[in-house]
Amino acid sequence: MSEMTNPYWWEAAPPAALPPADLPAHAEIVIIGAGFTGLSAAITLARAGRDVVVIEKGKIGEAASARNGGITSGNLRYDYHQLCKRFGSEKADAIEAESFAARADLHRFITEENIDCDYHDCGRMVGLYSTDNQDNITAELARIEARYGVKGHYVPPSELSDYTASTHYTAGLFRDDIGGIHPAKLLHEMKRIALEAGAKIFTQTAITGMVREGADFTLVASNQIAAHHSLTAEHVIAATNAYTDRALPWLKRRLVPVISEIIVTEQLGRNQVRALMPKLSMFGEARRIGYYYRPTPDGNRILLGGRRLKHTDKAAKSLLHEGLAGLFPELADAQIDHYWSGFVAFPFDQTPKLAVHDGVIYPCGYCGSGTVWARWMGQKAAMMILGTDATSAFARMPMRSMPFYFGGFDSDSPWFARLAISYYRLRDMISPLKSG
Ligand SMILES: Cc1cc2nc3c(=O)[nH]c(=O)nc-3n(C[C@H](O)[C@H](O)[C@H](O)COP(=O)(O)OP(=O)(O)OC[C@H]3O[C@@H](n4cnc5c(N)ncnc54)[C@H](O)[C@@H]3O)c2cc1C
Repeated sequence: MSEMTNPYWWEAAPPAALPPADLPAHAEIVIIGAGFTGLSAAITLARAGRDVVVIEKGKIGEAASARNGGITSGNLRYDYHQLCKRFGSEKADAIEAESFAARADLHRFITEENIDCDYHDCGRMVGLYSTDNQDNITAELARIEARYGVKGHYVPPSELSDYTASTHYTAGLFRDDIGGIHPAKLLHEMKRIALEAGAKIFTQTAITGMVREGADFTLVASNQIAAHHSLTAEHVIAATNAYTDRALPWLKRRLVPVISEIIVTEQLGRNQVRALMPKLSMFGEARRIGYYYRPTPDGNRILLGGRRLKHTDKAAKSLLHEGLAGLFPELADAQIDHYWSGFVAFPFDQTPKLAVHDGVIYPCGYCGSGTVWARWMGQKAAMMILGTDATSAFARMPMRSMPFYFGGFDSDSPWFARLAISYYRLRDMISPLKSG
């Protein structure tokens, strides 16, 4: 592992391969990808007694699901009023309701399955850059409490120090329904549950092609046992999200992979971490391109993440450290023990997707908030096949591409993604967001 690709989470839960085994010639359902999306779909389908085969190109835990910040944000890129403008109030209500249901369902899943993934029900604070919007924020929090029973409050300047030692913000917005997990531990527990339910998982096996023949699909899989193994299936769920490769060209053209990256400090000790973040909660910022940060589950270190703004790993790591020192000047000289990056996927309309094209189900496009969305959409994709509770506000929403865009995470983020990041940074400077 390169010094520059050193995910903190992998110390306790490293990527894992399953023993190589012969692939079947037929499966009722093939799921491509074993991240949160694919394993969630596998659990739901296998528990319903279906014949499920999951095919994962790498080891389990090498892609986004075990690289993320572990904040159960379940964010949407648009607030409720923007959703109403885009989709009308009925659809906006359904989308918003699903975002609350998805987060609550992740917390239910972790609790009911007794999953050891350092789940910390600690709430999240969004740092604000202005006090102008207090009345609107308070009204909005009252609306979501009345509708979803979720509690939150405006944090006035005089109470900021109860949440953070940083003097970077003017005020805050605290919600108690968002918490933190150890994402790699959750992922490996999902693998265990899927296997126990009867799903067959093949790692280090790539799907390299797929054609539809009548009602069925023929997929080509490749691994160290067989370079070209033909496998038929009645249903396919493509759970490859930002890591979609040329085997799924329709999806590749419709997702923009964007680099996201994280640093974790050296052990600061619990006293220092608590002095900086007294409630040990999760943090975000009211910016289009802001940082998110949190204590590590042991309370000894601070993890901070953001979008890639520099071309080289070294410069990107330094910039994140500068961001951390901007929040907490006492950490300017702290050693950074871990730095890594990964890809998140944006559809062109920046709304999560449960698309269906030519019979294949594509749950994807979580815009960097997949800890909640990926598990939810995987489950919903499975329910589409089972025909049970398949209703989702996202089901079959159109998914567009753009001319001359071919996608792919193996190249650098496309020019328009870099342009969009610069544009959003500029807008953050001129007009910061008024809420989180
Ligand atoms: C640095 C970083 C920080 C993040 N922070 C947060 C956060 O704090 N909160 C949050 O909610 N979200 C966060 N996210 C986003 C979140 O991690 C993702 O949205 C989520 O994990 C997506 O899950 P997934 O299962 O869809 O995709 P992945 O976990 O990426 O899994 C896709 C899998 O498909 C496999 N695959 C691809 N092509 C093929 C093929 N041809 N054959 C077989 N297998 C294939 C890949 O190998 C991969 O394992 C972050 C992401 C990153 C990278």
